[in-house]
Amino acid sequence: MDWDIVIGLEVHVQLNTETKAFCSCRVSYGDAPNTHVCPVCLGYPGSLPVLNREMVNSAVMLGLATQCRIRPFSKFARKNYFYPDLPKGYQISQYDDPICYDGYVDIETGGVKKRIGLTRIHMEEDAGKSMHGETGTLIDLNRCGTPLLEVVSEPDIASPQEAYAYLTTLKQIVRYTGISDCNMEEGSMRCDANISIKPKGRKAFGTRTELKNMNSFRNVERALIYEAERQRRVLESGGTIVQQTLLWDDQSGSTKIMRSKEDSHDYRYFPEPDLSPVFVDDAWIETLRAALPELPEARKRRFIRDLGLNEEDAAVLTSEKEIADYFEAVLERCHDPKQVNNWVRNEILRIASETGKSLNASPVPPAELAGLLLILDKREITPQTAKAVLDDMAASGKSAAAVIAEKGLKQISDSGELEALIESIIRENAAEALRYRNGETKLLAFFIGLVMRATKGQADQSLSRDILTAKLEP
Ligand code: ADP
Ligand code: MG
Ligand code: ZN
Repeated sequence: MDWDIVIGLEVHVQLNTETKAFCSCRVSYGDAPNTHVCPVCLGYPGSLPVLNREMVNSAVMLGLATQCRIRPFSKFARKNYFYPDLPKGYQISQYDDPICYDGYVDIETGGVKKRIGLTRIHMEEDAGKSMHGETGTLIDLNRCGTPLLEVVSEPDIASPQEAYAYLTTLKQIVRYTGISDCNMEEGSMRCDANISIKPKGRKAFGTRTELKNMNSFRNVERALIYEAERQRRVLESGGTIVQQTLLWDDQSGSTKIMRSKEDSHDYRYFPEPDLSPVFVDDAWIETLRAALPELPEARKRRFIRDLGLNEEDAAVLTSEKEIADYFEAVLERCHDPKQVNNWVRNEILRIASETGKSLNASPVPPAELAGLLLILDKREITPQTAKAVLDDMAASGKSAAAVIAEKGLKQISDSGELEALIESIIRENAAEALRYRNGETKLLAFFIGLVMRATKGQADQSLSRDILTAKLEP
């Protein structure tokens, strides 16, 4: 039998605000355990939460970036459950009135575009962390109260590959808005995946399972492939799917049961009595809309349309906002988009991965690359030399002009100097010169190679070619 796959993803994005959602403790990663805590985030009786305005800003920004409707009046709710690393015994979240709803994200898989609906984006707080060691379990509450956005998709995702594309696109959008770095390894982006299958074409959905514990987008994809296949085998052998939460195990490439899935009534949600509702008026929304950067898809289209870049180049350049910003900053000074694209894609991204520094902190800032490219355009150095100069700039932090002057790398375009050199090369290679004169003109490349070797790549290529052909004439 043929089956349809139905997937809906719940993504948690940890916000990079200065302070926590409802207290003034610092949001930190990797600090000494239990050093960023206070009565509010520890849940001491009698303490009162105060809403962090930055969390609301972030939620609305992401809502606008994903075409959501923004609810002018939204409320917080208590979601009750017991976790050892949740001392309050409940999580402050949003329930019936999430701040953003009815949005979408456009994805592309194998050249096919598709729109994935967003049910909602709501604000909530994170729990602490349990660390299971040999001597027992230790609890770090630094993460308690860290602001999160939960982005819930419609069950519009029809394959594990689409899930991967959705996550990549969502991450790209979130990173453009600057509200989170979305690092799955560090846990600042987490994904729970809901999946069911149904006979091909049937309307009604099957029973779903929920997958947790995947620490990369590839693992989300792998876990979904595994689970779709497991459900198919169960159903085809006459079994039924139980609504469960399953834990993905990366090592074995399989899932194991964590718990039977609770329904929302199990959480006894009720309105959070300690926080007043959030009003977001039009003026506030418009201020945030104005602060929103040009989004990746629009920027990519503009690069293709206005700068004449191809789809692939434009996609790489706009994959991260900082790459696109870098590219455009160079382009302000030297105006050849294709040339700048080549240098950024081939050299600057290579340097970034070699040094582990993002483009914002590149050892060669945009103005310095532009300086190098302008010197290259004036043909003061050869393209080969330019690459070596760039590496030198990255290592030393010096400008292109300084490196070139120091190392004497200026292109040799003095025709007198080149003529003398070429005459001696022809003399030393008389046999090849004779063969050339007898019609073997492809030997020109051989002579150009000798000139380049003799000048360590600094000879002006086209000038050398002109002199060579003139001198080699029979
Ligand atoms: P819960 O509150 O239990 O997490 P939700 O109704 O919020 O459940 O749905 C969570 C996610 O599961 C959403 O992304 C939704 O699209 C998805 N989902 C709901 N029903 C199904 C189903 N039958 N198969 C696959 N995904 C589903
Ligand atoms: Mg949920
Ligand atoms: Zn606190």
